[in-house]
Amino acid sequence: MEKPKIPDNEKQRLAALKTYDILDSLPEKDYDDLTLIAAEICDAPIALITLIDENRQFFKSRIGVDIEDTPREYSFCSHAINLPDQLMQVEDTSMDQRFVDNPYVIGEPKITFYAGVPLVNPEGYAFGTLCVLDSKAKRLNERQERALKSLANQVMHLLELRKKNKELELSRKKVDAYARETEEFVYAASHDLKEPLRMIRSFLKLLKKKHSQQLNEEGSKYLSYASDGVKRMQMMIADMLEYYRLNMNELTAEKVDISKLVDEVSAFYKREHQDAEIKHSGLPAINASGKDLRMVFENLIGNAIKYRKAENHPVITVRAEANTGGDWVFSIADNGVGIPEDHLERIFGLFQRAHSGKQYPGTGIGLAICKKIIEKAGGKIWVESKLDAGSTFFFTWPENV
Ligand code: ADP
Repeated sequence: MEKPKIPDNEKQRLAALKTYDILDSLPEKDYDDLTLIAAEICDAPIALITLIDENRQFFKSRIGVDIEDTPREYSFCSHAINLPDQLMQVEDTSMDQRFVDNPYVIGEPKITFYAGVPLVNPEGYAFGTLCVLDSKAKRLNERQERALKSLANQVMHLLELRKKNKELELSRKKVDAYARETEEFVYAASHDLKEPLRMIRSFLKLLKKKHSQQLNEEGSKYLSYASDGVKRMQMMIADMLEYYRLNMNELTAEKVDISKLVDEVSAFYKREHQDAEIKHSGLPAINASGKDLRMVFENLIGNAIKYRKAENHPVITVRAEANTGGDWVFSIADNGVGIPEDHLERIFGLFQRAHSGKQYPGTGIGLAICKKIIEKAGGKIWVESKLDAGSTFFFTWPENV
């Protein structure tokens, strides 16, 4: 018997093989299908996908044998990988010095015929083979050889795909971890900003209270700008913390009576906006986190009042109907100023606004919060609007959250 020669590039070859994370993996149907076709086409009782590790040959897929691996020194395929661009065929092992006294030739499964196509990766490393074996001496015809080569190519494609999927999964995990880290950083930084801002605001108040007589008109104006800026920043930080809090919270569900919830939200707003008329009809009880859903209605009804037209009192209608997919579709319609067409999608992004802060104060976070809550539950949010006529915000909420 002749022991197989160790390839010159053995160290790199083994390192490359490890990157496929395939050794000792469980059987997979895609590979088994290819071995089955190989056995059928070559009319052989045994077909294998072998991978040559340091000291053994592992069978990724096997037909006609029960064992999972064999020692490398007895492996036919270890000979085959030394000629990576050729199909190795042994028509009769009893006539071949390399294999005549091989334990798998003398003993079970009494290999007499072998044909194997090396599995070569794009960098040129041969990992193993797709091979067929028989206890009878024979020779593959040209068509069988061609088919076996094509199937070996398919095995290599599967291996490459597996590697790409693993890499993709790894980068997705890295991206997720990075995004989480960033969120945590923003959350912590926003939280830490609250205290110094509170301090600035109280000193600005003190300055106004105790020293305003020393300031001229321009100085007082600057002071009030500074206070407004700080107030706005406090609002933004509070909203940002709310936005990131949503990322960190798990979704909880309870039965929420939307009609009652909308009444409560309306009562809250009507204290300050007595002329607002808020109607609703057919609102169901749904499975949701009550706290999160309240935030959605607070934002949407609050906006419907805020972006009102100066000349008429706000009329807001909240409705719900079940769509054909069994989800609830809620709508909140107003008779306000409307939204320019080119902003209809953008306004759901963080800090995106379609109206000026002077006329309509805000942070541009409310709708991003709504979107996050709704999408987390598996729903969607969108808006239809006509300038000067009003807007209708729609969102879907799956029946089973
Ligand atoms: P904010 O109201 O704090 O600016 P939002 O995220 O709630 O932030 O809204 C984003 C933008 O969408 C608003 O700045 C406004 O331009 C527009 N918008 C939201 N709701 C309405 C509405 N009902 N009518 C008109 N414009 C609206």
